[in-house]
Amino acid sequence: MQVKPFTYNANPAHILFGPGSRSALAQEVRRLGCRRALVLSTPGQRASAEHLLRELGKLGAGVFTEAAMHTPVSVTEQALMVFAGINADCVIAVGGGSAIGLGKAIAYRNGAPQIAIPTTYAGSEVTPILGQTEHGLKTTLRQDSILPNMVIYDSELTLQLPVAVTVSSGLNAMAHAVEALYARDRNPITSLMALEGLRSLKAALPAIVHQPRNVDARNNALYGAWLCGTVLGTVGMALHHKLCHTLGGSFGLPHAETHAILLPHTASYNSEAAADVLAPAADVFGGNLALGLQDFARSLGAPTALKTLGLAKSDLKRAASLAVQNPYWNPRPLDADALLALLERAWDGSRPQ
Ligand code: NAD
Repeated sequence: MQVKPFTYNANPAHILFGPGSRSALAQEVRRLGCRRALVLSTPGQRASAEHLLRELGKLGAGVFTEAAMHTPVSVTEQALMVFAGINADCVIAVGGGSAIGLGKAIAYRNGAPQIAIPTTYAGSEVTPILGQTEHGLKTTLRQDSILPNMVIYDSELTLQLPVAVTVSSGLNAMAHAVEALYARDRNPITSLMALEGLRSLKAALPAIVHQPRNVDARNNALYGAWLCGTVLGTVGMALHHKLCHTLGGSFGLPHAETHAILLPHTASYNSEAAADVLAPAADVFGGNLALGLQDFARSLGAPTALKTLGLAKSDLKRAASLAVQNPYWNPRPLDADALLALLERAWDGSRPQ
């Protein structure tokens, strides 16, 4: 093997990993020099947020449980008013990318220290990236201060995550790893992390489908999610993330499911141009990465056709042309006709080509 020159940037967040690790939360709030935490969640995770608030005792100042997908600025403004009204000095986000996005949006505006307690596999907790929506437009910011100061990965909090969400979210994490393997700014460490992330999720997701409350499998899935999220936050993403961003931002498709459906098709699009760097991942999936990923998704009961998410076939042309509008790097050059054919296969649930 020939090690080529590279630049290595690590995400500096402090990580606490393991079942039950949330018991250190109060100690971590104090370590950050804080005394009044605002706990954030989506409406569905209110009980978890309130439970954490009680466990925090005097260090818990309140909860705000209106976090929503794609971080609407109007929700952030409400949360900032609550933060100021209760004299909070830090935020704790519990849940998926929606809750964690709100924590980042608050910290971006008022500099509050953030603790993230992820309970999906989306990976936002270890990235310095914030996507926000206002007046129907999604914009993305990247800044060091957006990265949560610390992350607690406690698999006990993920035992209730519905199997369907688990599967889509796990495949969403795997998409970060696949794109990290061929990222232009990859380095040997991100490639190790990406491959280990893929292997962990490949083993953990079937075990969770079989036994959703299996703490060991949940723990291995969170480990994979951490690795995949870390590479998402460290190296550049390409075609796959751009297409998902387009379908989510312009057509309102759900985040994790869109990633889950498109991944085999985008992996196939890049399979020849990035054959050497994708080879170890192909080995994990039986030799052919794209087909192996789709078989894997099917075996888990994941959605495999965009039409099931409510996308009209007549929208595919516009989606393909939007995806090539702002040129960005991809191992294989982008071609609107080839992308349309890719989207048609993904819409239909056909095999990747
Ligand atoms: P999400 O946060 O909306 O969660 C999905 C669903 O799972 C929600 O209904 C939530 O209530 C439920 N849920 C979460 N934890 C649960 C638990 N333990 N038990 C039961 N239900 C639970 O979705 P997501 O896929 O985690 O995140 C998507 C959002 O995150 C999008 O807005 C996306 O843009 C953003 N995101 C950002 C980054 C980044 O780096 N900035 C990375 C990934 C995702």
